[in-house]
Amino acid sequence: MTNEELWQAVLSQIQLNISPANFATWFANTKISAIDDSVVTVSVPNSFSKEWLEQKYNRDILKILKSLDDNIRDIQYVVNPVNVKIATAGKKGAKKEEETVEQMGFSELEVSKETNLNPKYTFDNFITGPFNEIAYAAAMAVVEEPGKSYNPLFIYGDVGLGKTHLIQAVGNKIKENNPEKKVKYIPAEKLISTIVNAIRGQSVEELKKNLRDIDVLIIDDIQFLAGKDKTQEEFFHTFNSLYQKNKQIILSSDRHPNNIPAITERLKSRFSGGMIADINIPDYETRMAILKQKAEEKDVTIPADVLEYIANNIQKNVRELEGAISRLIIYKKTNGKTVTIEDAKKLLKNIIVTPAKVTNYKKIVEAITEFYDIPSGNMFFSSRKKEFARPRQLAMYLLKRELKMSYSEIGRKFGGKDHTTVIHACQLMEKEDAENEKVHQEIELIIQRIYSK
Ligand code: ADP
Ligand code: MG
Repeated sequence: MTNEELWQAVLSQIQLNISPANFATWFANTKISAIDDSVVTVSVPNSFSKEWLEQKYNRDILKILKSLDDNIRDIQYVVNPVNVKIATAGKKGAKKEEETVEQMGFSELEVSKETNLNPKYTFDNFITGPFNEIAYAAAMAVVEEPGKSYNPLFIYGDVGLGKTHLIQAVGNKIKENNPEKKVKYIPAEKLISTIVNAIRGQSVEELKKNLRDIDVLIIDDIQFLAGKDKTQEEFFHTFNSLYQKNKQIILSSDRHPNNIPAITERLKSRFSGGMIADINIPDYETRMAILKQKAEEKDVTIPADVLEYIANNIQKNVRELEGAISRLIIYKKTNGKTVTIEDAKKLLKNIIVTPAKVTNYKKIVEAITEFYDIPSGNMFFSSRKKEFARPRQLAMYLLKRELKMSYSEIGRKFGGKDHTTVIHACQLMEKEDAENEKVHQEIELIIQRIYSK
């Protein structure tokens, strides 16, 4: 028997015992790449499949292999991506090559401990068009002469339009040009909690000293300072101190400074004292350019008509554009087939059409319990088993996100859980979804399932 025949024999038995969706998800693009003495090497397309096969299917696969060839004692899984470019791990290149290959497809760039900036936000992958060119030009001017051209630089615009990307790109570029400069990126919520904790722990002086020692201070979503008097007070002094020393301050907000409620007049006037630039909604050409770039980044080909379909239907939010293309990329990678407009319509219906019409509570719960192979009745009755905890949190998150159910409604579905428990679960999963590529892919696979039901 050749390796190929042997693997076909294994697959045909596996296929009998699991659902077609599971089979397609976990066994597409797998093969036996070598047999060395008693060890079979199975190559899989990404580290996500690797982990899944190792954890959930290894026993079954080994049993079948042994029944076909009794010399076989063990299996090892290696990631051998098809059609995927090897992602270079930014400047951190110290990783072993093997490791880089392993993490392929999930090339997670790490947030810098020193600056708190995420290296994935650069000018190289920031697409410009009429909608953001003023903000872009102002940002470039700041990069050229930090502290001298526009201070503060205030960028505002609706959610998902690239504010965080742009202000972090400025930080990354300045740091690249001037490694000695102290650059610090702080989301406003983090600033608030840091100040509150410092007040509580009586370490305000130390915090002040740290903040005033910065060359480029970037605060994201400054609108959250609304109503936070203590933070506003401290921030006002920090702002003045930095400003007087010609240190660069960069701020972002979802609205113009004049429209931020409950913020002191003196801060408003500080915010408006430099350059205020807004980011608008991207035009069609830019939307296409963004989609093309994201597909190219992952080295996946998506037909032009499918890209056009997305660009025509998602108009107001770059994050949604990105979410849509990422969903199709993962679909293409797991199924290997060309993505058609029909596929796109199915996969994107929750983004493009109003969600309530296309899925429901039952479908979401079913998709999750099937995905994790857990009995669907149990998990709702607050079983204490650890293995149910995470699927349950994920279910809460998806019920909120896809159906916009209220927290207390979700709590009731889960055996009368308190709504704060639900909020906690949703926040946790949202964070992981945004920050952990592996979790994101897992969620996308579940979404594929929900919307193909
Ligand atoms: P905001 O902070 O305004 O809510 P983000 O900066 O988080 O938006 O952008 C949302 C997503 O869209 C990010 O992943 C970002 O990289 C991407 N994005 C936004 N604008 C652009 C752009 N002009 N070019 C490329 N990607 C973009
Ligand atoms: Mg943001």
